[in-house]
Amino acid sequence: MSLARRILVKASENHWLREHGPHFRFVRLAASRFLPGEKVEDALATAESLAKSNITTLLTELGENVTERHEAEAVTAHYLDLLGRIREANLPAEVSVKLTQLGLDLDREFCFANLVKLIERSAAVSPSTPKTLWIDMEQSVYVDRTLELYALARRSHPNVGVCVQAYLHRTAKDIESLIQMGAAVRLVKGAYSEPPEIAFARKQDVDENFFRLAQILLGPEARKMGVRAVMATHDRALIARIADWAATQQIPKDQLEFAMLFGIQRAEQLRLVRDGYRSDVLISYGSFWFPWFVRRLAERPANVWFLVRNIFSA
Ligand SMILES: Cc1cc2nc3c(=O)[nH]c(=O)nc-3n(C[C@H](O)[C@H](O)[C@H](O)COP(=O)(O)OP(=O)(O)OC[C@H]3O[C@@H](n4cnc5c(N)ncnc54)[C@H](O)[C@@H]3O)c2cc1C
Repeated sequence: MSLARRILVKASENHWLREHGPHFRFVRLAASRFLPGEKVEDALATAESLAKSNITTLLTELGENVTERHEAEAVTAHYLDLLGRIREANLPAEVSVKLTQLGLDLDREFCFANLVKLIERSAAVSPSTPKTLWIDMEQSVYVDRTLELYALARRSHPNVGVCVQAYLHRTAKDIESLIQMGAAVRLVKGAYSEPPEIAFARKQDVDENFFRLAQILLGPEARKMGVRAVMATHDRALIARIADWAATQQIPKDQLEFAMLFGIQRAEQLRLVRDGYRSDVLISYGSFWFPWFVRRLAERPANVWFLVRNIFSA
């Protein structure tokens, strides 16, 4: 991981910055590129407009590591309401949540109960084709607990998906078990700062591992087990490599699903749909956007210039 990236990831975890950063107008302006708005209505309107271009969406309210039970209950209630709104508007949208938002740091059983409520409501949105409730993957200390709760939920609920990170050495092994469950899996490179003992340090190794894991997730065993694999990356070279490889395996284009974040590689999102692939966009909203925004800067330190330009236009 480059020094600039490491500094930015650390900045996203800094308490002073988390509290004060969002108050600067230039920061708010820069963040608006990745965030259609703070309100759930902004996210729903954006999902509706993307649906017109045949782009499906994933909605997530920003927030992590709640410290009080009532906060986790409020997040759960918010998502239950959101799923109701998705049903009313008949939107091609699913929801993605962080387990630390649902109380994982407080009480595992309580977090699981909140998760199950959301999975069940997700299924009820469109009973004929139940929507998947997605679980984000957070820092490495949460990976075991996240996969354990995922496996537990998956036993009784087929409509639950989980994210895995290609930068972790362990992910190849984790994917083996997920395939045996016929899981829904979202593959990402990984957004946090992790030590070299557990994560690939060089970008090219992460990219190579992503490709290798994508091949496994799209391979014959995974297809036989009914795995839903989503390749969540903005890396156009990697997308092309996966798509070319999938063509050699006679995997139909409409079974290849790519996902990106709102505001990044918009032309590529549309190009994928035009070429017959499935294209999803993750829309984040909410007032707790600062650490998430700084992680987006870290993914592409050149974005810092974008932030700096806004200092002068603010
Ligand atoms: C749908 C979705 C869900 C995700 N969920 C999780 C999760 O649950 N847990 C987790 O750890 N991570 C998650 N991530 C983030 C992911 O781990 C990466 O940090 C992020 O996607 C950047 O990696 P990349 O694959 O796009 O490749 P990179 O090699 O970082 O980027 C490839 C190219 O994409 C463009 N690009 C990438 N990021 C940006 C940016 N911020 N601004 C502008 N251009 C950019 C640039 O042109 C860059 O050269 C998610 C990402 C997506 C798209």
